[in-house]
Amino acid sequence: MALNYVMWNEELVRKSKDELLLRCLGREEYMKVMGEVHEGICGAHQGGRKMCWLIRRCGYFWPTMMNDCIEYSKGCEACQRYGTIQKAPSVPMNPVVKP
Ligand SMILES: [Zn+2]
Repeated sequence: MALNYVMWNEELVRKSKDELLLRCLGREEYMKVMGEVHEGICGAHQGGRKMCWLIRRCGYFWPTMMNDCIEYSKGCEACQRYGTIQKAPSVPMNPVVKP
């Protein structure tokens, strides 16, 4: 696994599958990046998988990024308050009598 990592200009980078160099971030940095991608100026309150895809596309990496992004998007107060309700429990259908 260590073969995927390289020191580049005194920064740790990881080689992606398509040979791109992704800058590795520490906890403070990736919390800032997740906040900016999710709810920053250009953030659109996307879900965790989309956030992870966007952050990788911007050239950043950390080992637990998928889980962290999913947890971040689940914990966003605005998403919980104004998002669509997709996990509503199913209720039995009731017949409607035509007048
Ligand atoms: Zn959100």
